[in-house]
Amino acid sequence: MPPVFRFAPSPNGYLHLGHAYSALLNFQRAQDAGGRFLLRIEDIDPTRCRPDYEQAIYEDLAWLGITWELPVRRQSEHLPEYRAALARLQAMGLVYPSFESRAEIARLVAQRDADGDWPRDPDGSPLYPGAARQLSDAQRAELMARGMPYALRLDMAAAVARVGEVSWDELGSGPAGETGVTIARPEAWGDVVLARKETPTSYHLSVVIDDALQGVSEVVRGQDLFQATSVHRLLQALLGLPAPLYRHHQLIRDGDGHKLSKSNRATGLRALRAEGVSSAEIRHRIGLV
Ligand code: GLU
Repeated sequence: MPPVFRFAPSPNGYLHLGHAYSALLNFQRAQDAGGRFLLRIEDIDPTRCRPDYEQAIYEDLAWLGITWELPVRRQSEHLPEYRAALARLQAMGLVYPSFESRAEIARLVAQRDADGDWPRDPDGSPLYPGAARQLSDAQRAELMARGMPYALRLDMAAAVARVGEVSWDELGSGPAGETGVTIARPEAWGDVVLARKETPTSYHLSVVIDDALQGVSEVVRGQDLFQATSVHRLLQALLGLPAPLYRHHQLIRDGDGHKLSKSNRATGLRALRAEGVSSAEIRHRIGLV
């Protein structure tokens, strides 16, 4: 079977040089390996994703000379598949609802920080500080009946206890040079959100389901997602899904060494194209010739 690669942007802004690097690297790997290249639109967040950004993704990638298989998988069209996976995790007793608002969470974190430093996840966000795991079924039912918004969280300690140690084969490298067989550390993320009242999935859950359903054999993506791979491997182990190979690549940074952002016009592919920059120049700028 030919290897399968994918580029999976979220249509919540215009693509920038970092996306061009990731997409071209994926496309190149697929060509070199005689593999397939898929484009996936990660649009589960209706508050941030827009059809014009999605359209721009197609235009910008085509302009770079990239071609992909049709039909494109759009996550918003597959919510029942994510809901089914979530239900399996719920049936294992690994998911619980938490009802705190953002403001309440911030207050709890400040309190915990005052008692001693409360841990942050690898992205720098505080771990979930609440005690919702201890609510009784009756309390949960009552809060839900009152129409309270909630997040569905993975009981990380129970999930880790269930699968034991998991690892992945890193073909690229992590931010600290990690490479080869890499032991996952999902507990560093705490009780991650897997879904919300209004959305039956999250980035972590849908990416794992889609990579498995699409038969992705090598995930090529930026080092900013290296640590998230620990959560992905844990979910794959819980759901009995195969582990792809992972190749995390360096991030393209701006002149000051900052990560590129979708809101910075200076490195946006559309803006560069409008200024008359050619796609060959883009490849040159990101070190792909
Ligand atoms: N949709 C994610 C993003 O735009 C990438 C997901 C992935 O490559 O795993 O950052």
